[in-house]
Amino acid sequence: MRRQGSYSVVWFKRDLRLHDHLPLRQALEHGPVLCLYVVEPSLWAEPDAARQHYGFLLESLRDLYRDLRQLGGQLQVVTGEVTEVLARLHRSAPFSRLYSHEETGNGLTYRRDRAVKRWCQAQGVAWHEVPQFGVVRRLEERNHWQAQWEAFMAQAVAAAPPHVPSVMLPWSEPPPSPDALGLPTEEPPARQRGGRRAARQILADFLAERSQQYRGGISSPLSAPTACSRLSPYLALGCLSLREVVQETRLFAARLPASASRHRAGLQAFISRLYWHCHFIQKLESEPALEFHNLHRGYDGLREDDWNPAHFAALTAGRTGWPLVDACVAMLRQTGWINFRMRAMLVSVAAYPLWLHWRPVGLWLARQFLDYEPGIHWPQMQMQSGTTGINVPRIYNPVKQARDHDPHGLFVRRWLPALRQVPDTWLFEPWRMPEAMQLRHGLRPGIDLPLPPVDLDAATRLAKQRLFALRARPEIKSAKAAIVEKHGSRQRNALRGTAKSVDLQQLTLDL
Ligand SMILES: Cc1cc2nc3c(=O)[nH]c(=O)nc-3n(C[C@H](O)[C@H](O)[C@H](O)COP(=O)(O)OP(=O)(O)OC[C@H]3O[C@@H](n4cnc5c(N)ncnc54)[C@H](O)[C@@H]3O)c2cc1C
Repeated sequence: MRRQGSYSVVWFKRDLRLHDHLPLRQALEHGPVLCLYVVEPSLWAEPDAARQHYGFLLESLRDLYRDLRQLGGQLQVVTGEVTEVLARLHRSAPFSRLYSHEETGNGLTYRRDRAVKRWCQAQGVAWHEVPQFGVVRRLEERNHWQAQWEAFMAQAVAAAPPHVPSVMLPWSEPPPSPDALGLPTEEPPARQRGGRRAARQILADFLAERSQQYRGGISSPLSAPTACSRLSPYLALGCLSLREVVQETRLFAARLPASASRHRAGLQAFISRLYWHCHFIQKLESEPALEFHNLHRGYDGLREDDWNPAHFAALTAGRTGWPLVDACVAMLRQTGWINFRMRAMLVSVAAYPLWLHWRPVGLWLARQFLDYEPGIHWPQMQMQSGTTGINVPRIYNPVKQARDHDPHGLFVRRWLPALRQVPDTWLFEPWRMPEAMQLRHGLRPGIDLPLPPVDLDAATRLAKQRLFALRARPEIKSAKAAIVEKHGSRQRNALRGTAKSVDLQQLTLDL
């Protein structure tokens, strides 16, 4: 048994790396460390948890384990609730310092962190928490937020420590299987693999090659899988630090020849997304309740009483009959990823023509997205569902989106083999095919193909009427100012002029 205070505990959470890991560096200043990761059964029992998240986590832990071993360190993976694990550890080998990054997670991690804080106070353990993003805890006002983000991103990136003298846990156990955690069996077979090694390769490849297609390539579901960085799951688990990515991107852009303007513009547009990453997480950090409640409480009751299980079942089964929607669901099931525009389109279809409340849809999507990041996900769910009250709702028509972004039907045909025979003219609205054509191709809407559960135009019109009638009410309008003050972006033409032109749609919708 060690003397009280003779080692520090470094609690790895969603920061699975040694590079740019300030808590680890700070802990090492005091001597040996115990590098701890806790698999929390209660967290994995939450309705936003999925088997693919756990698989990606284990792969990332494996890389971290190897990296620590190379530095003489040891990663200790323990299963249990965090306060219980800390208490057990403290009983067998008392410690007085706990180090971790700040986390903006779901409601459970918020409550768990409060419990850990209480436990530390009761035990006289000093808990040192360090920000890992440009997200400000206890932010008082948003006006200087962008400058704070820039200052955070400009701080030196700490290299991995040369040596990690480690303390071993008095007990050890392998991480539980996904079945033992009760995780449902579905898992996208072609999802990205976890770990810092994969993350570094993807970043290098994106900077050198794929970012040239970023502008103009990220909206279509055909080009987006390669044009987008594909770094989101690695940022969500902290296999890469955001600061590391921002700095390397800026350096790479600065070294490009003057003639590489398209490439440079792609990298600038990418940086603006990294800014949004924190801008959105800040909303959940400042208002954890927005995971559960409408940001603008005047919208309470808008959809709650109209829940339609058949609409939800059609959406989640990928059987809405709107080909682009169903193709996106099929891609998600296979890969765990779709691009921003298609995510926004899916949520818009759920929220307007299908008139579904964002919370159950958001839980389903959280499980589908390998990169689930509560601080981005829930504000986006609300924004695309029109319940923030402060941005003009954008309603995506899935037929128009298909014509704009999949004009030859390549995406739809790839993911929906049943539609391969449908001629281009009817591809995005196969239920309109003349009967003779249906017979010729052996495709009967409603039998061989799902029929849309509602008339798209009529249902969307009704949804707009309901939403805009509410928005027009004086009490709804008057509550808007306080939300803008707390959560609204002050960024307009900032970030070196990139944001305005990059994705106007995102900014016009921005909170
Ligand atoms: C309803 C909805 C839910 C979403 N849920 C998530 C989520 O759970 N996790 C998640 O990481 N992203 C989420 N996004 C944002 C965005 O779709 C993904 O970040 C992006 O598709 C991930 O792919 P990428 O890393 O290749 O993106 P890139 O375009 O290469 O962007 C790089 C990084 O910037 C950040 N970013 C990009 N777009 C946005 C955005 N619109 N808002 C905030 N940050 C952004 C992400 O960290 C992303 O990894 C959601 C969007 C919508 C509309």
